[in-house]
Amino acid sequence: MRPTKIVCIGWNYKSHVSELESKYPEVPTVFFKPVSCMIGDGDEIVIPEGVTNVQHEVELALIYGKDCKSVSEEDAMEYISHAAVFNDVSARDMQWKARDEGNTWDLSKGIDTFGPMSEPVPIEQVGDVQNLDLELTVNGEIRQKGNTRNMIFTIPWLISYVSRYITMEKGDVLITGTPEGVSEIRPGDVVVARIQNVGTLTNKVR
Ligand code: MG
Repeated sequence: MRPTKIVCIGWNYKSHVSELESKYPEVPTVFFKPVSCMIGDGDEIVIPEGVTNVQHEVELALIYGKDCKSVSEEDAMEYISHAAVFNDVSARDMQWKARDEGNTWDLSKGIDTFGPMSEPVPIEQVGDVQNLDLELTVNGEIRQKGNTRNMIFTIPWLISYVSRYITMEKGDVLITGTPEGVSEIRPGDVVVARIQNVGTLTNKVR
């Protein structure tokens, strides 16, 4: 099912915050990726000409099974039907330039093919979403390793928080932030993201 939007959480692992020297957040940074950036397992990430320092970010994606508006933290997980592995591919130089100039970073995150997502699996088979190992390798070398227990804002809290402001529709995607270890990917690289009980996502870079 094609989502109407991808809502993204930035700075949600303490280690990634210190890595990128950002401020420790009081509320999460929320931004969007357009659905046009989505690709699947096995598809190629295509870096446009002139774009430099493209980086990977392995993230747990949650997919809504019904419309979600103004829900409590306690009820939040009832709205999630599936989970998937997501790579929040980011043009970091473009993102930092925009940030330093006080502009939005939408373009750096919304480039075509910069939203790889694995085939969603039913949430029932995932187990405790707040205790899943995440890992990302580039050409077989480990770059990111983390666990969803190290999130600053928990998944039910995030679902409730977003629902205060935005109606998440059936099929919409929430991506929940990335742990430390983000690094540059270049043409020819093979990027493999894995999340325990959720799956594997493999994409080559062109
Ligand atoms: Mg991200």
